[in-house]
Amino acid sequence: MGNPKAFLTIHRKEAGHRPVHDRIHDFGEVEQTLNSNDRRMQASRCMDCGVPFCHWACPLGNKPPEWNDALYKGDWELAYRLLNSTNDFPEFTGRICPALCEKACVLNLVEHEPTTNRENEAAITEHAFEENYVRIHHPERNGKKVAVIGAGPAGLVAANRLNLKGYMVTVFDKNEDAGGLLRYGIPNFKLNKAVIDRRIDVLMQEGITFKYNQNIDVSKLPEGFDAYVIATGTPTARDLAIPGRELKGVYFALDMLAQQNRVLAGCEYTKDQLVSAKGKDVLVIGGGDTGSDCIGTAHRQGCKSVTQIEIMPKPAEGPDDPANPWPNWPRTLKTTTSHEEGCTRRWNINSLKFIGKDGKLTGVEVQEITWKPNPEGGRPIMEAVGSPEVIKADMVLLAMGFLKPELPELAPNVFVAGDVVSGPSLVVRAMASGRDAAEKVDKFFH
Ligand code: FAD
Repeated sequence: MGNPKAFLTIHRKEAGHRPVHDRIHDFGEVEQTLNSNDRRMQASRCMDCGVPFCHWACPLGNKPPEWNDALYKGDWELAYRLLNSTNDFPEFTGRICPALCEKACVLNLVEHEPTTNRENEAAITEHAFEENYVRIHHPERNGKKVAVIGAGPAGLVAANRLNLKGYMVTVFDKNEDAGGLLRYGIPNFKLNKAVIDRRIDVLMQEGITFKYNQNIDVSKLPEGFDAYVIATGTPTARDLAIPGRELKGVYFALDMLAQQNRVLAGCEYTKDQLVSAKGKDVLVIGGGDTGSDCIGTAHRQGCKSVTQIEIMPKPAEGPDDPANPWPNWPRTLKTTTSHEEGCTRRWNINSLKFIGKDGKLTGVEVQEITWKPNPEGGRPIMEAVGSPEVIKADMVLLAMGFLKPELPELAPNVFVAGDVVSGPSLVVRAMASGRDAAEKVDKFFH
């Protein structure tokens, strides 16, 4: 390590976000960057503690002590090589990973100031693209053909790994472009889609074939391949079957998020097709990350107000609250950049019915609840508190998660990766799963 005691004098410094009044009018990335000297100083804070919890916590097994050291010493190319050895696409995780490595960082445990691994990762990768450290490989072919179904992060990593091992890889996707939820879920203000295009361009130059608008029946896979990787994600959103569900104005989160990303990519929609929050009182049902992305998108579309409700209790910021029967960890209170832009947030709220007039949504009847410990053990019991109330809304976005799909029985040459196996998860986990699937395919042939 170049400077093992740097953490004693240099504090964590984040690049920060564009000011709300500026960013709220566009879909450009919210996160800013540090200058390269500050970035190197941040890398110097990694103390190579010898107990690499960061490495263990990362599903990809990233090695922050190694690439932080290279970055601190100014060897950006080595830093990229080390980073890329475990992480195929650090430009994605560098932007949108919740950075499990930082949660596990010893500097977090003792000082609450973990090394800025995620931002360092993004900086190293941007530098690598700018300086042409991202090489185009021309693997020797082994004569075997693999089809990857689904071009999300899991499918892309599987395709990349297999291609580099010499397999001829064709990626099929039902969408018109690659990226899965990176492109058609996560808003541009978190991940600029040019970042995906840039990587797909590298993969194509390296020999991967992409076939779009191909909705593949996974029980009848395309012929002519020696093996298959199914990485189709969790496309079905959890619905809310309460009275009034048919009213105009009730949408799934992805109806809005995917369309907005398509609009930014140049797609055109008629007024009737547009799912727009412009001038509306928006109610987001679901307190997770998808809900938060809806809030940021609604702001940028020009909504009148936005409220987010969650059926679970407000997570405590500190240790477990004895009055709350649900475990706090890992549900710590999270304030995203979208929340910073303005939003009424409420917890312990159950939705009873959608209310409307002339077929159009005007509000949602909700009930405040409390969770009581279950005397028989198991799931806590929900109890109403007071009387129901109506939250005024002319747009509702359902952001209550996604259902894990049922897969047909798989042949020995068919492998699975990503959210389709785990259920809804994280980009970093999907990528790790894509890498594992590629290894299993390779083992299958040896
Ligand atoms: P997906 O990304 O869902 O990709 C699956 C692909 O398969 C899609 O391209 C789809 O079109 C294709 N496909 C499906 N069925 C077929 C078929 N029959 N034939 C052909 N193609 C098919 N995670 C984070 O780590 N950080 C975040 O900030 C974050 N934000 C999120 C925001 C939103 C709104 C959502 C919904 C999720 C977010 N996630 C985030 C979760 C993350 O996006 C997913 O865990 C990850 O994308 C899963 O990757 P995957 O490759 O398994 O599936």
